[in-house]
Amino acid sequence: MKIVLQNLTKKFPNRSKTGPKEVVAVNDFTFEIPDGKLIGLLGPSGCGKSTTLNLLCGLEKPTSGSIFFGDDDVTKVPAERRGVGFVFQNYALYPHLSVRQNIRFPLENLKGDQKLSKQEMNARAEEASKLVQLEGLMERKPSELSGGQQQRVAIARALVKTPRVLLLDEPLSNLDARLRLQTREEIRRIQRETGVTTIFVTHDQEEAMSISDMIVVMRDGVIQQIGQPQEVYDEPDNLFVAKFLGTPPINVFKGYVKGEKLFIGDEAVLDAKGVADQEVWATIRPEGFELDENGPFSCALTGVEVMGRDISVVATHPQCENVTVRAIISSRNKVAVGAQSVRFTLVPEKVFLFDPQTEERICVQ
Ligand code: ADP
Ligand code: MG
Repeated sequence: MKIVLQNLTKKFPNRSKTGPKEVVAVNDFTFEIPDGKLIGLLGPSGCGKSTTLNLLCGLEKPTSGSIFFGDDDVTKVPAERRGVGFVFQNYALYPHLSVRQNIRFPLENLKGDQKLSKQEMNARAEEASKLVQLEGLMERKPSELSGGQQQRVAIARALVKTPRVLLLDEPLSNLDARLRLQTREEIRRIQRETGVTTIFVTHDQEEAMSISDMIVVMRDGVIQQIGQPQEVYDEPDNLFVAKFLGTPPINVFKGYVKGEKLFIGDEAVLDAKGVADQEVWATIRPEGFELDENGPFSCALTGVEVMGRDISVVATHPQCENVTVRAIISSRNKVAVGAQSVRFTLVPEKVFLFDPQTEERICVQ
């Protein structure tokens, strides 16, 4: 089921005495989610992710704009008739019910021609439990399950009505690091198997990048960029997106362009063909540095962290906005122990320039 958001806007009254009268939680969203894909909504806390999901499932009414599921305009369709499965940020299982009863629960309230017999309900619950690999645990209570298993019960409960659309609001935030990894692979598998169009909300860029077919990066209710994860990482449209994606984060320097050369401090570090003389934010991905004793860019060396496959060169530079400059290089390289400074050549595709006023990307030819 394809989903279309058209000029979707949600404003809330601002209850605080100071500041503007309204909070624009979702500001004029227009985009299309292709059928059967997994989309990651990504952005810091408060950027409007949960509000977007609430609008899609019908728990909130938009201030303006429309939502289509396929060709159906569902903007005014009540939540229970939209065919949406929802796993909430704080998914609550019923503690006194068994896993089977928890999964079956959404089916028990179906009315009219949708009403199911007990056998049918059990068969559907069984089917959903197989998808999330919970067979064998059906008689347990939630307290007798691990966090990851509880999460899978919540997903099975959202799937049991065979929804047209699955919405997951920060579904992994309650899990520890290892389980988070496992469960996100699990979600990807379930999504592929069912082919249900899925929207996955997270503030964790790595999580969003790793499982999404497409990511939507948001900030303060405004879409910043939409694209395949690698595409957005490789071609960020603005400084916010460049800084939000990637670990370790991108290195941000105050720089300037003069005579089609990028300067950081008084060193000309890279060509900047086609760029007018101006001040810029010069940003360099950690993998954009190559050790080179004759390289044009020098930093004061702080230390070297060994990470196995790679080493992380930690340095400082007076023009750097980050506390430290971090360069990730292959461990085949050797950094002289006790050296005071380190020199680099920069990889052009890993360096992005941004306008200091608009923070939009400046194109280099
Ligand atoms: P996220 O899920 O990305 O953390 P939310 O969608 O929950 O963000 O919130 C977006 C913005 O809308 C925030 O500024 C939040 O305070 C505000 N907001 C959300 N729900 C309400 C509400 N019911 N009333 C007033 N403001 C709200
Ligand atoms: Mg939220």
